[in-house]
Amino acid sequence: MSRIVQKYGGSSVADAESIKRVARKIARAKQRGDAVTVVISAMGDTTDELMDLAYQVSPQPQTRELDMLLTTGERQSAALLAMALNDLGVKARSYTGSQAGVITTERHGDARIVTITPGRIEKSLAQGNVTIVAGFQGVSQDTKDVTTLGRGASDTTAIALAAVLGAKYCEIYTDVDGVFTADPRIVPTAKRIPEITYEEMMEMAAAGTKVLHLRAVEYARREGIAVHVRSSFSDNPGTWVKGHADIAKGNQMEEAMITGIASDASEAKITVVGVPDEVGRAARTFDVMAAAEINIDMIVQNVSAVSTGRTDISFTLPMSDGQRAVQALNAVKDEIGFEELLYDDQIGKVSVIGIGMRTHPGVTAAFFDALAANDINIDMISTSEIRISVIVEAPKLATAVQAAHTTFGLDTNGEAVVYAGTGR
Ligand code: ASP
Ligand code: MG
Repeated sequence: MSRIVQKYGGSSVADAESIKRVARKIARAKQRGDAVTVVISAMGDTTDELMDLAYQVSPQPQTRELDMLLTTGERQSAALLAMALNDLGVKARSYTGSQAGVITTERHGDARIVTITPGRIEKSLAQGNVTIVAGFQGVSQDTKDVTTLGRGASDTTAIALAAVLGAKYCEIYTDVDGVFTADPRIVPTAKRIPEITYEEMMEMAAAGTKVLHLRAVEYARREGIAVHVRSSFSDNPGTWVKGHADIAKGNQMEEAMITGIASDASEAKITVVGVPDEVGRAARTFDVMAAAEINIDMIVQNVSAVSTGRTDISFTLPMSDGQRAVQALNAVKDEIGFEELLYDDQIGKVSVIGIGMRTHPGVTAAFFDALAANDINIDMISTSEIRISVIVEAPKLATAVQAAHTTFGLDTNGEAVVYAGTGR
C-alpha cells in the first residue's frame, strides 16, 4: 500500500455536486488500495468573498481576525467532503490545519510552515480513513493562534504533508489539464507541458503562473517530491514537476529554447521622483519597504540628471500592498528628500522562461521584436539566467503574451480546455 497526497483546488469543489464528484474520484484512489490524504481548498471563490466581507466591515481588519475568518473556508469544504465520502461507504475524517499538526510562524496572512507533527494524521490513516486536511492554514508555535500561509498556499500544505508522510508523490488537482505554455485563459492555443523541472516551474510560479504556488514548488524541490498537476474534471495526464535527472529524455526542455510564457496582472508600480543621487537614499527607500514587510519585484533607477543631481527610482510590488507602500514612503518624504511619488496599477508583467535560453542567444531580441511588431511599449525589464520579464500597459498584457507565445513557436492547433473557475 502506498501513500499518496491529493490536493483539490477551490474550483474543483465549487458546489455540492462538485464535492460529490471529487469524493467519487477520491473513492477510486482509495479502492486502488492507496492510503490517501487529501488537502482541500475553500469552495470556489469563498476566500475572496470572505475577504470582501471583512473589508465591508472594517477598512483595515486585524490580520489575526482575518485568519480566523479565512480558515473557515477550508474547514467547510473539508467537512463537506468527509460527509460525501462517508456516504459512498468510504471512511473519512476531516481535520483543520491546527488539528493536523501544521505548526507555523506567527505571521498572519503569510505564515511559514515550521514543522508538521502528524500524530493525528498517522492515527487516522492507520484506522483506514481517507484523511482530509484543510489547506492553507496552521497554528503558530508561539502565539497558538490560527494562521494562514498566503493565497494559493493549499498547494504548500499538500507538498509539506507529502514530505512528512513519505508519500510516493503528490497530485495537485485543478481546473486545467496541467501546466501550459501560457495561461490557457489568455492563449487558447497553449500547449500542455508533459514534464517540467522544479527550476523552470519556480520561475513560472514566481512570474505569475498560478497553477502551482511558488513555495510549494520550492518545498517539493527541497524534499524531492514529484508533483503531478492535473485536472479534477478529466482523467487526462497532466504535468509532472520533477528534478532534471528524472525527466524523460524526449521531454527534456533544453531541446526547446523556451518552456513557457508567464503573465501577471497583480503588480503595481511606484516611481519615486527626484531622489537626491547620494549614497544611502535607495537603501533608505527599500528599508522602509522592508520594515512594512512588502516584497519588491523589479527595480529600475534612471541615470541622474547632471543639472539637478536627482534621479527617479521605479519598482514593482503586489498591487494589494500599494496603498501601504505609498503611505510608508510619504511618511519619510522629507528624510529621503524625494519630490513626489507616482503610483500606477494599470500594468502587467510578461515573462519568457526556459532553461534553453542559457545556450541560445537572441531570445531577448526576438521577444522585444514581437512586442514592437504589436506596438507594445516596454516600461521595465528584468532578467535571470532562465527568464526575461517586462512590464507593459495592462490593456496590452494579453496581446503581449500571445505575441511572445507565437514568436517562440509554442502554439498548437488544439484548444486548451479550461474546465471551471472564475479565474479570480
Ligand atoms: N483558499 C485559499 C485561497 O484561495 C488557499 C488556496 O486555495 O490554496 O487563496
Ligand atoms: Mg482558492
